[in-house]
Amino acid sequence: SQKVKDAVLIPRYARINEHKITIGKAIKSFKSEGYTLVDCPEDFRELGLKDFCVDRHLPDMLVFHQKTDFHAHPFYLNGNMILQDKASCFPAHVCQPTKGAHAIDACAAPGNKTSHLSALMKNTGKIWAFDLDSRRLDLLKKLTYKAGCKNINPVHGSFLETDPNDEQFAEVEYLLLDPSCSGSGIISRLDHLVDDDDEKEKNGKDADGKTQKERLQNLADFQISIIEHALKFPKAKRVVYSTCSIHPEENEHVVKTILKRHPDFKLATRESVLPTWNRRGIPEEINGNKDLAECVVRTVPAEDLTNGFFVACFIRKSPNEQGAK
Ligand code: SAM
Repeated sequence: SQKVKDAVLIPRYARINEHKITIGKAIKSFKSEGYTLVDCPEDFRELGLKDFCVDRHLPDMLVFHQKTDFHAHPFYLNGNMILQDKASCFPAHVCQPTKGAHAIDACAAPGNKTSHLSALMKNTGKIWAFDLDSRRLDLLKKLTYKAGCKNINPVHGSFLETDPNDEQFAEVEYLLLDPSCSGSGIISRLDHLVDDDDEKEKNGKDADGKTQKERLQNLADFQISIIEHALKFPKAKRVVYSTCSIHPEENEHVVKTILKRHPDFKLATRESVLPTWNRRGIPEEINGNKDLAECVVRTVPAEDLTNGFFVACFIRKSPNEQGAK
């Protein structure tokens, strides 16, 4: 299918881990290996085999030709760089945790976004990283250790069972929520999507006997419960929600429900949510409200050359705004 062909053309994204090396030193090192630093092209498919550039949206990301294989590169093996899709680096940038802050990564394993938060916080403050799955949490411990993170407190258990009023969380201002989703935006799964669609047309149900509509509704209910729990933390200031799904049911519709149920929160505006990224939410999926759609970010694999992704950031209204609701 066309989607699979496009997938092959996704460039090699490398997030430079600023715990270990500066972007300047990383660039110098790649140049000495024979790579050429070029201006970021509009279309990454224009990158030559030995070209690389600094991403125009993310200052800690280098972009290489799609055929570049870094799995045996010393920078990958020693944690200097993390091979992470560009769109999956959006949530930590949108969260913008400050130095010394307290943060929660609610659904954290294997920990790519946790180590990104840690890098943005310059290894200061504290990040509680929750995950329900102990094996995945073990992987998070390994990956964040390799990345040189020293401000992470991994916790095995459900984020939904944490007490937001527990004294230890009293200063938590930043929460990153990347809950389980359909994964329908993940490139390597898009070819299955195409096949699945044919299958669904045949019997209308998945292997587990649920229709796609039911499955998405169950996921959305869970995603909403994670966000609602996060909004209970008394000092919650920026609550970032992300999925690697392309379905509005898990994206704009979830946002719509939260805004309706929680009039004390609103969406952070485009100004602080990757302002230079032009693909925003789908207005028709959020009450036809263009202003709200502008606040959130979407990516489309075939056009953006990333996994399909969605990011929104909830912020608390000021007491004045709350009074005026
Ligand atoms: N943020 C991760 C990263 O960037 O590496 C990926 C997270 S993955 C999309 C979702 C994770 O949520 C899974 O590891 C799953 O085990 C975890 N999870 C599901 N329900 C949870 C819950 N109630 N509390 C904490 N973690 C949960």
